[in-house]
Amino acid sequence: MKIPKICVIEGDGIGKEVIPETVRILKEIGDFEFIYEHAGYECFKRCGDAIPEKTLKTAKECDAILFGAVSTPKLDETERKPYKSPILTLRKELDLYANVRPIHKLDNSDSSNNIDFIIIRENTEGLYSGVEYYDEEKELAISERHISKKGSKRIIKFAFEYAVKHHRKKVSCIHKSNILRITDGLFLNIFNEFKEKYKNEYNIEGNDYLVDATAMYILKSPQMFDVIVTTNLFGDILSDEASGLLGGLGLAPSANIGDNYGLFEPVHGSAPDIAGKGVANPIAAVLSASMMLYYLDMKEKSRLLKDAVKQVLAHKDITPDLGGNLKTKEVSDKIIEELRKIS
Ligand code: ATP
Ligand code: MG
Repeated sequence: MKIPKICVIEGDGIGKEVIPETVRILKEIGDFEFIYEHAGYECFKRCGDAIPEKTLKTAKECDAILFGAVSTPKLDETERKPYKSPILTLRKELDLYANVRPIHKLDNSDSSNNIDFIIIRENTEGLYSGVEYYDEEKELAISERHISKKGSKRIIKFAFEYAVKHHRKKVSCIHKSNILRITDGLFLNIFNEFKEKYKNEYNIEGNDYLVDATAMYILKSPQMFDVIVTTNLFGDILSDEASGLLGGLGLAPSANIGDNYGLFEPVHGSAPDIAGKGVANPIAAVLSASMMLYYLDMKEKSRLLKDAVKQVLAHKDITPDLGGNLKTKEVSDKIIEELRKIS
């Protein structure tokens, strides 16, 4: 079998602590070629570019990208040279239109209360289309919300295909079409077209909820969700809300996926408050790597890695953010121990 090529971008702060541990764990479970590239604030200070061309080139040549976290610089530094956000640049250059955030509670002993769903958020348009202006005459600030037919079709198709590939049974479209009749009306209409097809061909259910009600359901009855698909802003807010169910940023993985590339990163940032102390929780990064293995069609290894994390959580071998006293490296050692036991 071909050895997968992984572009590793550690970034700043705790990115440089959790990613090396994740790579150490990946080496334990398979053969990979790791190619290291730079991006982020330190890279910007060193070479004047937060995301050098070489990094983009390598990212495009690899089978997947493992990304840590990057810091956002103070304003005065950027006045000299504009700071291009590495993650936004990568999303744009690689057309990573789907943001995927699993909300799976792994440290749950009561399986009847299992929380396990996925939020798939459109990543390129919606209210974050980047068109914003101020009309001096009207004294009115305006932000445009772009919902294209093409953008909606590809994210909704992605969500249904994701459901097929991951053996899920239901896709819920989240919208506000009662008020946003034209934009969310379009999104919902397209969803309903796909819904028919996937019901007939794959027996996957499709339904839809209003976004405000969904915000409440996520807290009250998260078990009702399987796969959620939604537009950019709604997805941004709902996925952060839902990650609150998991027990913190140290446990939340994510993926940014397009038709040709996949980038996998923990949801958290560079966490300057704990950087350098060796106490960052590596699990969000490790679970992102597990998502990467699934994407690379290494489903069994993906599951093993997740199971190892589950065991470590069950034994309370955890970092201070979760109430434990282990260091980053010690948690990784425990994950490796579990992997050796179960594989
Ligand atoms: P950035 O500007 O890079 O996003 P931030 O200050 O917003 O940095 P985040 O990384 O978003 O920091 O984290 C927010 C809070 O959660 C911080 O207090 C941080 O210490 C904590 N945190 C985030 N990730 C982890 C982790 N992996 N382990 C432990 N604590 C974490
Ligand atoms: Mg942050």
